[in-house]
This record gives sequence, C-alpha cells and structure tokens, in this order.
Amino acid sequence: MNRILIRASAAWLGPGRLVEDAQVVCEGGRITYAGAVTGINAADQELAADGFVMPAVADRHVHIEMSDPAAVLAGGVTAVRDLGWPVERIFALADASEMPSFDGPLIKAAGPMLTAPGGYPTRDGWAPPGTGRELTSVEDATAAVQELARLGAAAIKVSLNAEAGPTPSDAELAAICDAAHMADLPVTTHAQGKGQVERALGAGVDELAHTPWTRLSDEVIQAAATQLRIVSTLDILSFGRDTPEIRTALDNLRRYHVAGGKITYGTDLGNGSIPPGIHTREALLMVEAGLEPEEVLEAMIRAPLEADAPADVIALRTNPLEDLRALDDVQLVIRSGRVVTRG
Ligand SMILES: [Zn+2]
Repeated sequence: MNRILIRASAAWLGPGRLVEDAQVVCEGGRITYAGAVTGINAADQELAADGFVMPAVADRHVHIEMSDPAAVLAGGVTAVRDLGWPVERIFALADASEMPSFDGPLIKAAGPMLTAPGGYPTRDGWAPPGTGRELTSVEDATAAVQELARLGAAAIKVSLNAEAGPTPSDAELAAICDAAHMADLPVTTHAQGKGQVERALGAGVDELAHTPWTRLSDEVIQAAATQLRIVSTLDILSFGRDTPEIRTALDNLRRYHVAGGKITYGTDLGNGSIPPGIHTREALLMVEAGLEPEEVLEAMIRAPLEADAPADVIALRTNPLEDLRALDDVQLVIRSGRVVTRG
C-alpha cells in the first residue's frame, strides 16, 4: 500500500488543532496519522512541505461542467457538490470522479433543480435543457425525489426563484422535503424573491444554496439560524465590486452568524468569472460577514485531518490563520492519497 509522509513546520488539522513541526501520514486514500512529528518514518513517498499544511477544500455549490475540473483540483479543491445540471450528464461524471485517477475533484451532485413548469432555470441561457425538472403535481414531486435518490443524488435542489418565473406550490415543496428526508437527503434551495426564504423555513428545507440578497427580518434570521445552514456564494453578488446586493447579503449573513447559524463555503463556480480552485475573495467576504479566520477555514474544508479521514491535504506557503490571502498560494495538493500538484 502506498504510504505518503508529509512533514511541515506547521499544520492546522481542524478547529482548535494548530500543530508546530507537524507530520501527516496517508495510506490507501485515508489519513492514518496527523499530529506532531513522531517516529513513523518508513514511507514510499516523503514530502517536506515548506510551509503550512491543512485539509483540502470542499466547494459545496458548483456547476462543474461550466468550469475545468482539473484546474479546480490543482487549485486545492478536492471535493465539490454540483447544485444543478442535467441527470444524464452529471451522475455519470460523479461516478467517474470516484476513480482515484480522475483528473478533478470528487463530485457529488443534486442533479436538476426541481421547479414549476416554466420556472427557473428552464428559461435561462446558462442552463442546458434538463437543468430544471418541471413538476406537474404533488405525486410527481415525490416521484422526482425518489428517482434522484435512486440515481445517487447527494442532495435535492429546489428552485424557489419567484423573480424568474413560477415556483413549486407549498404542497409540492412539502412533498419534496418529506420524500427527501425519507431518503436521508438534505433539501437545498435557491430562494429568491419576497417571502421565499419564509416558505423554505415553513416547509423544513435544510439549506439555502445562496446567502439571500434581499433583506431578511431579524425574526426570519433567527428562525433560519436554528433550522438551516447557508452556503455562502457571496462573491457572485459583487465580483470584487461594491454592490447593493453584496451589502444586503453581508448584513443578512452577519446577523445569521451572530444568531449562531451554520455557514458553509460555496462559490457557485460556473456562474460568471469565479475562478477554479480555492476562491480567496469568497473567504475574505466571509470575514467581512463576521467570521474569524479559523471559522472560515472550518467552513471551507472537506474534513479535519485525523485518522480515517480522506487523505485530502493541501500545503500553503504561509499561515492562513494570520492572513487568509495565504489561500492564494497553494503549493501541494493531495486527493485520496494521490499527489496532484507540487508547486
Ligand atoms: Zn448555482
């Protein structure tokens, strides 16, 4: 079995676990040791990271076929979740991505967004036919979820974008949540337009696929913080500029964070000019929303480095806990125990 030994002057293994003179050992695609340097020396491959080691990044909102999987992986992102793409294309790609030799991140997928006839994204230029699955009834909503579960969906995505067309009814939304939860799948939603976050909360949706960019009341923020998590996707609202949308989204996310809400990192890769790989500007916007650098890293990683975790590791030149711009300088990427890039 291929054993890789990584040594670094410092490592952040996960929340509260900063180690100097660190050592990480990978074997057969899993971590077998992560901590201070020990006597373990025998290895097939020894890597001395001249910098800072941490878990690799997961991007929990992408449209992977609109980007370059190889560049995503080389940029430090070893796992992604695709939140909207046609069935016949995305699940085959997700299967292929499980092979250790796949030149890209591990891909988990929701498949198409469940929507109303003519609803978002069925009439949007970016979305190929089949990116939206148009529901015709409550029974059809249940059947659609069951079919996606059989195909291996990792989540169910619902379109509640009332600004771009009709949305599923409350009864359909409830049926989607029931069927998804029966299949142990989370429901994530694109909620846009007045009252749509409230509808998601009422139906028991588990996640907002974007930080909302219309202002939410304190009452709604409080409910959201206890009931669901938010995928950040902040930079698509501004692409480095100052816009009313980013200001409102940051205000929503700040209050949600103070209320104890759970935030996870996602970029909506494929939307506009989001670059493949770790997107440092997204991380910096999370700091603007009030997260500490360590909280940002916690929201970004696939899994802490500990025995039995996937052997997904990156090395940076400098310490991101001191300055998150360190994420711009990825020196080494390991996915499932395979060395992908050495800077
Ligand atoms: Zn998206």
